[in-house]
Amino acid sequence: MEKSISKVAVIGGGAAGFFAAMSAKKHHPKAEVILFEKTNKLLSKVKVSGGGRCNVTHHELEPSKMAKNYPRGEKFLKKAFSQFSVVDTISWFKERDVELKVETDNRMFPVSNSSQTIIDTFLKEAQKIGVNIVQGMAMSGLEEMENGIRLHLTDESDQDFDAVIIALGGQSTEKKFELFKGLGHTIKTPVPSLFTFNISDKITELMGTVSPNAQVKIQGTKLQNTGPLLITHWGMSGPAILKLSSLAARELADREYQFKIQINWLGDKKEEELREQLRSFVEENGKKMRNKNPFDIPNRLWMHFLSELKIDESGTWNSLDKKSKNRIINKILNDEYQITKKTTFKEEFVICGGIALSNINPKTMESRVSPNLYFAGEFLDIDGVTGGFNFQAAWTTGFIAGKLG
Ligand SMILES: Cc1cc2nc3c(=O)[nH]c(=O)nc-3n(C[C@H](O)[C@H](O)[C@H](O)COP(=O)(O)OP(=O)(O)OC[C@H]3O[C@@H](n4cnc5c(N)ncnc54)[C@H](O)[C@@H]3O)c2cc1C
Repeated sequence: MEKSISKVAVIGGGAAGFFAAMSAKKHHPKAEVILFEKTNKLLSKVKVSGGGRCNVTHHELEPSKMAKNYPRGEKFLKKAFSQFSVVDTISWFKERDVELKVETDNRMFPVSNSSQTIIDTFLKEAQKIGVNIVQGMAMSGLEEMENGIRLHLTDESDQDFDAVIIALGGQSTEKKFELFKGLGHTIKTPVPSLFTFNISDKITELMGTVSPNAQVKIQGTKLQNTGPLLITHWGMSGPAILKLSSLAARELADREYQFKIQINWLGDKKEEELREQLRSFVEENGKKMRNKNPFDIPNRLWMHFLSELKIDESGTWNSLDKKSKNRIINKILNDEYQITKKTTFKEEFVICGGIALSNINPKTMESRVSPNLYFAGEFLDIDGVTGGFNFQAAWTTGFIAGKLG
């Protein structure tokens, strides 16, 4: 039997909360939908997202491939994307006159290059369909009732609702989940994801240098990732590192961000292949080593390696002795660095952990523990790598939660 819904609360005026509130009003036009936001700012993360441009989603139209970009939530989202996918996101914005463009790395942004376009669209739409927005009001508690939920609000009032959608965003401490733990939900301990690695090493003098295809492994684990690596003045960043920080978020928190990485600067190139490449290069090359390197790495990095290995850069390739050759091979394929701490990636950071997905029905986003209570967004144990995946999870889970069953 269809639930009769006349009053719905959405808690949290961020990406997921807004999308959930708009979806609830669309699916239940007769219901009163109230969105409570504790601060006086709506959509504040959308505003600063993607360096102020808002990386709305990622141009990956195949749901199962899209889902692979979530170290937490892959299986859950694969199901959820069948209800609201990247294609639906693109259409949703298009129907509201917001064109999205695809960049070379498949990230999608509004053509305006401004996150304000997204905010204005949401505010306009919410007003048009009649979502009631209450700012400066937080949920301070809730109680399960026989046919709904009683909300306790920070103005000390109580209000009863047929359904409540929780979209509080990523929370950095477990304490913020206590209310839901009390109702019987399992909480996956929150830890940061998407960060860069700090290194105290001379390589940081090469800040700004990008090596196009580095394979980075975390020693003592099977965790690794390959991609462009950016050397910064504090350590290492770029896609290779950021994705690895996400894949290894929990393991690295357990190690208190003290660990060693091993880099193969040529991706997955093996020693034999490199030795062969070097052999043919060296045999016929009378050029000075500083003028030519046969590897797919920037020359600045190559010069740094020569200096680290104390190999004379003015020597010629064909005068290179066997021992030096071996040291070059080892440096390029098995370079090691000690990581001393992490630094937040300013463009996008998220929390790994939250409400366990085993507690949530992916078809509805309703809690399996507390009926009439729905969840959306980063408050769930869902997080993606950088590139528009985190907003897509917010849109998808928000849209489904708003259907209310
Ligand atoms: C700097 C930065 C840039 C980012 N850029 C991108 C990007 O370009 N692309 C991308 O995909 N992802 C990006 N992300 C990640 C993305 O912003 C989040 O994953 C997304 O905002 C999560 O949406 P949400 O609605 O779950 O949470 P939030 O956006 O955090 O919203 C939660 C809301 O709930 C409110 N709230 C909390 N507690 C209560 C309460 N008790 N009562 C009432 N209200 C409450 C909060 O004030 C907040 O407004 C970025 C993140 C950061 C930090």
